[in-house]
Amino acid sequence: MNVQWYPGHMTKAKRQMQEDLKLIDLIIELVDARVPLSSRNPDIDRLGQNKSRLILLNKADLADERQNEAWKEYFQGKGFHVVKVDSRNGAGMKNIQNVIQEACKEKIERDRKRGIKNRPVRAMVAGIPNVGKSTFINSFAGKACAKTGNRPGVTKGKQWIRLNKNVELLDTPGILWPKFEDQEVGIRLAFVGSIKDDILNMEELALTLIGYLKEKYPGVLNARYEVSEEEENLGVLEGIARARGCLKKGEELDYAKASGILFDDFRSGKLGRITLEWAPAE
Ligand code: GDP
Repeated sequence: MNVQWYPGHMTKAKRQMQEDLKLIDLIIELVDARVPLSSRNPDIDRLGQNKSRLILLNKADLADERQNEAWKEYFQGKGFHVVKVDSRNGAGMKNIQNVIQEACKEKIERDRKRGIKNRPVRAMVAGIPNVGKSTFINSFAGKACAKTGNRPGVTKGKQWIRLNKNVELLDTPGILWPKFEDQEVGIRLAFVGSIKDDILNMEELALTLIGYLKEKYPGVLNARYEVSEEEENLGVLEGIARARGCLKKGEELDYAKASGILFDDFRSGKLGRITLEWAPAE
């Protein structure tokens, strides 16, 4: 799902988020493990004050494992609970239940002191478009609620998914808005496919991605397309076009097509596990 953002959308999403936040104890915030900062909206930190916080490094299967670990430490250093997950195949889900209890320890303790027993922790999922919120909810709730089967009549109003006796999850995720003001952020979100491709100059983006890969993941382009990484970025794109037979009428190379192939390969993990944003060294 790709969403075009304009102020009306953002205002609505923000208002909805603020309403939902009143109902919950814990925010399960999804970020894209390949771009953990660019796929966050720091407004959540202000909106989510006084809430327990859990960050999921989603799509961890597509990101560099060393960087996944570095980012986990980074966010833990900022006081978040963190779990790496692959929502598509369910990896990391088991671990989350325990981490939720841990993240909400204070609330549970507070309840206990007030004599409130067994009030479940209420949680909501939040994140920018395309980060994997629906996939996560299906995977997480699907496993936990396997016995209850389909719930008929998804109606308006809030629906809670009872994960177990301790945790309830709001069935609709909170949508955060990307930080488009920063061009670098926009470029990274475009790389991972979170911005509609047709509004972008794909060839220019492809050249930028090639430059990044040559520097940070040397050998990856050569391994997939047998191109020389000694070439300028344009030369590499040309090599990809030749390797994949991207030709227009006549003998002219089709750079747009080659760019599309590069992006498809990157986004689907065919170039290997690649992180686009490296954790700041502490
Ligand atoms: P939402 O807009 O945040 O609800 O995102 P979706 O749940 O619709 O997911 C967007 C795309 O990312 C879909 O194509 C999913 O299959 C894919 N996706 C979600 N989670 C993962 C993951 O952990 N790993 C991989 N490889 N793909 C994922």
